[in-house]
Amino acid sequence: MSDERIIVVLLGPPGAGKGTQGALLAERSGIRHVSTGEIFRAAVGAGTPAGLRAEAYLESGELVPDGVVMQLVEEYLGNRCDLDLCFDGFPRTRRQAEALDAVLEQLGTKLAGVFLIEVSDEEALRRLTSRGRSDDGLETARYRLEVYHELTEPLVDYYRAQGVLREVGGEAGIDAVADV
Ligand code: ADP
Repeated sequence: MSDERIIVVLLGPPGAGKGTQGALLAERSGIRHVSTGEIFRAAVGAGTPAGLRAEAYLESGELVPDGVVMQLVEEYLGNRCDLDLCFDGFPRTRRQAEALDAVLEQLGTKLAGVFLIEVSDEEALRRLTSRGRSDDGLETARYRLEVYHELTEPLVDYYRAQGVLREVGGEAGIDAVADV
């Protein structure tokens, strides 16, 4: 691995397999997997102030407000400035993406790549409703897909325009990502 810090983003709908790919990538390359959803779920479970603020959003499938998310991410980027990171589930809005770019610029770095992992809505719904998380009931899962299409999918064009987008495909192995 080079001296330069590696920061990548996994982009794609809920149920695409970002969590699985991120965990594999971490295992194989030592890049730290940062799932904002998992961090929020842990905070909810632990009853921290951030968790209390996030709980209703998670349960309804709504996005946690950008300000709360950015506070969390900046802690990760600032406190662990030696670590290579793979964000999973972040950014999810244009505002988060722009804020991430600004933070990275301040740190003198930029994204090494954004990996788009795509599956159809039908396949995503099938996977989501079979994994049994409390926000994976059919209604909430459908709503989360809607939120993805409306607020997160526009980031595909945002990152394509930056020239950092790589399409992986929901069934592809992790190698395309691990090659960064
Ligand atoms: P999935 O990949 O199945 O959508 P996640 O674990 O990534 O699940 O996210 C679960 C929930 O956590 C989201 O529905 C949302 O409420 C919240 N969340 C996670 N990351 C973000 C983010 N970057 N911005 C806003 N909300 C988020």
